[in-house]
Amino acid sequence: MLADKNEARTSLEELGEFGLIKHLTKGFSIHQESTLKGIGDDAAILDFKDSKAVVSTDLLIEGVHFDLSYMPLKHLGYKAVVVNLSDIYAMNAMATQITVSLAVSNRFPLEALEEFYSGVAAACKVYGVDLIGGDTTSSTKGMLISITAIGQAVEKDIVYRNGAKENDLLVVTGDLGGAYLGLQVLERENEVFKVNPGNQPDLEPYAYLVERQLKPEARKDVVELLEKLEVSPTAMIDISDGLSSEILHLCGQSEVGCNLYEDKIPLDPTVISTSEEFKMDSTMIALSGGEDYELLFTIDQNDFPKIKGNPSLTVIGHMCEKAEGAHLVARDSSKIPLKAQGWNSF
Ligand code: ADP
Ligand code: MG
Repeated sequence: MLADKNEARTSLEELGEFGLIKHLTKGFSIHQESTLKGIGDDAAILDFKDSKAVVSTDLLIEGVHFDLSYMPLKHLGYKAVVVNLSDIYAMNAMATQITVSLAVSNRFPLEALEEFYSGVAAACKVYGVDLIGGDTTSSTKGMLISITAIGQAVEKDIVYRNGAKENDLLVVTGDLGGAYLGLQVLERENEVFKVNPGNQPDLEPYAYLVERQLKPEARKDVVELLEKLEVSPTAMIDISDGLSSEILHLCGQSEVGCNLYEDKIPLDPTVISTSEEFKMDSTMIALSGGEDYELLFTIDQNDFPKIKGNPSLTVIGHMCEKAEGAHLVARDSSKIPLKAQGWNSF
């Protein structure tokens, strides 16, 4: 949260750009062997030897992608890093470095940026990635964050979106819909707070959902698990926009169709109870909610015994001929065409 009246507020002008960069990045050190040079020169230098470099970048805009009235800055720093790392893991690669670029208006004191960087540092620690650079500049209004994540993988291990084959099984990690409902809960409490600032929201019953929204995790563990199980997915994507739109990406790029079974979609009990409370359909939320940052991948049927019974992995459908199209097979066995209703900032 932006520092309130009783907290220290050090203006960014006091430090100057170089002082600010130095201050924000002084707690970071280098852990990856591939980082030859990190922060401090005109560019960073990386050496991946026999591996391929994997690169992904994201731009986040205040008011479009995040709302500081309920997103604490520390969580924002953590989440901004995690969502980028998720893209690296979705290639079946290991994340190794990030760069962080920021533009802030003068309404942000130094203490706010310290909070943001404490979240960045926490994510770097949890995922073992090095902060190797970035850029810092001013904006006329609000905060903009751009993060680039870099990773490595040997060529044969890299998994694209376009490798799914007919009859492959469709597998998802974790459970879906929590992050979207967490956002609904936070927005509802925020509205209540605006009307009645004395009201203390009780978020405890929604702790899992709020955590899924404010502190998502990327599935590095799943990339490691797949290696251990000796399973090579044929195609993979991370779920940022909702199951439906990600399935359509896999189908489109792989030129196959898909049957997704409604009764197989993994839902946490709080997702089921809270969707009832909001009078929403939990399947719709899983299909269109987004921001769960789980992995969605396809495997050859012969690999099924290797993943069977694993609590992190659920088979939710199978791929079919392209001409059959992509459908949800509902509980009553009716087939409903999947639509890309993913969360879209436009
Ligand atoms: P330049 O003028 O070449 O853009 P800067 O003064 O912006 O250089 O950056 C100096 C060093 O600090 C570089 O290594 C750059 O990558 C790093 N850096 C700048 N801003 C940030 C930031 N917000 N977070 C992390 N590193 C940063
Ligand atoms: Mg610069």
